Amino acid sequence: MRKQIAAANWKMNLTLNEANELLDNLLSKNITISDDQQVVMAVPFPYLLPANKKIENKKGFFIAAQNCYSKKSGAFTGEVSAPIIASCGIEYVLIGHSERREYFAESAEVLAAKVDIALVNNLKPIFCCGEALDIREAETQNEFVEKQLQESLFHLSGEQLENFVVAYEPIWAIGTGKTASAEQAQEMHEHIRKVFAAKYGNDVAASISILYGGSVKGNNAAEIFSKPDVDGGLVGGASLNADEFEIIINSLKS
Ligand code: PEP
Repeated sequence: MRKQIAAANWKMNLTLNEANELLDNLLSKNITISDDQQVVMAVPFPYLLPANKKIENKKGFFIAAQNCYSKKSGAFTGEVSAPIIASCGIEYVLIGHSERREYFAESAEVLAAKVDIALVNNLKPIFCCGEALDIREAETQNEFVEKQLQESLFHLSGEQLENFVVAYEPIWAIGTGKTASAEQAQEMHEHIRKVFAAKYGNDVAASISILYGGSVKGNNAAEIFSKPDVDGGLVGGASLNADEFEIIINSLKS
């Protein structure tokens, strides 16, 4: 059965003290989650180790990197490789966030290479996709997202995609306060699952967790997550507040 996941994306926020405070606050709430649920927190690189230490005894909680480089090692000053991240005991890595695609010009080919190197190093990718506002207005979002998946994931085997995690994040809803409606999210998630089913079969498609991202808050998470093909969320702004993120975690389907 696929996992229901509440994933936090802290982005480039919080000093070390603030990060410790947020994690301590969240962990003090004694949130318990079921075997089919997970909490994943994508933190800035310097916090991977201390954050991982803090959650080590917390069942179902994991730390993620927000990015990894596409090469294994070498003279790439300032980059962080998948083997380095994995060697810190980290489970997940975000790949293809729209901010990486836009501000760092990450192409579909580069993202495919990042997915590959993450998998080789036993890191689980959370692969982000999603359309900009003009594409939504032209009503071509289904084709656009399908192409993103084809270009960066369709070289993988069905086995590699079992229990994979995809985050659908319409760019027009990220950090804007403008959330896709629960119906819009379900429509796209159903489409994404059908795209995987057509290529890899129903079993693989059914095993993939598809998260929704884009202005998820405590007051809209339950409705969005209640949709059958929405398996939780990737949450930016609201994950920086422990009370708000607790509500979001508690909104996961059981
Ligand atoms: C994100 O950064 O992936 C995101 C969805 O941000 P926000 O929740 O702030 O829209």
